[in-house]
Amino acid sequence: MSDQAASVSTSTSDEILLDVVDLEVKYGEARALSGVSFSVGRGRVLAVLGANGAGKSSLAAAIAGVVKPSGGRISFAGKEIAGWPSHRVSQAGVAYVPEGRGIFPHLSVLDNLRTMLRHAVGPNERAAALERAMATFPILGERRRQAAGTLSGGEQQMLALARVLAAPPRLLIADEMSLGLAPLMVDVVFDGLRQAREQGVTVVLIEQFVERALELADEAVVMRRGELVWTGPAAGAHEQVLAGYLGAESMS
Ligand code: ATP
Repeated sequence: MSDQAASVSTSTSDEILLDVVDLEVKYGEARALSGVSFSVGRGRVLAVLGANGAGKSSLAAAIAGVVKPSGGRISFAGKEIAGWPSHRVSQAGVAYVPEGRGIFPHLSVLDNLRTMLRHAVGPNERAAALERAMATFPILGERRRQAAGTLSGGEQQMLALARVLAAPPRLLIADEMSLGLAPLMVDVVFDGLRQAREQGVTVVLIEQFVERALELADEAVVMRRGELVWTGPAAGAHEQVLAGYLGAESMS
């Protein structure tokens, strides 16, 4: 499958924002990713699909600098970022929303937003960006002094979305943002992701709701046991094709 997996995007090289080549991640001796190669064009949305344990979160964490790859290359906006620490990747314009919500539960809503925006905007623009973030979801403004850990799961994801929409990153890596949310909140998450896309944000989207992810995405990759086993346009990733890789129960 490696030929097929070599390049997902039809973009020309100067339109490519993220180029991953032969990426490998290991936890001790256990290999979580091997030979993963794909590229994402500027302003495009790539859905990363796969069953539990396929390696999606490891891929996200490696791009974000949270996990150090043991091999391969990650080029972002023309710079080789593989192995950079996460704060440096963030400074370069990557926003990462990890699985399980990347908030600081004991910090207030306001301080969480300050922390998230720290690398995204310069000191002079920070106050305006904070106000924009809280205006995006007024409930965050109402709860600005409240510890973020006391927010509902959906409200915690609003925090992440507010940061993205107030100061759009070049690349958003969204790992299972809808996990465990009530249906109305899932709608809020997908609506926020759509808005980010409309603002020109490039998105690597990991989602349990395969159909909804594919509606939003331009391209898709399917992972299995740490490798890419299918790549192509999102519109071509029909249920029959994906069911073979993901298992019918994953198609929601
Ligand atoms: P899920 O949807 O369940 O989160 P995933 O597709 O995101 O799955 P990963 O979480 O990347 O997959 O896991 C890939 C493999 O790496 C799995 O076999 C997992 O057990 C292993 N793994 C993940 N994180 C670690 C870790 N910190 N230490 C050791 N092994 C890990």
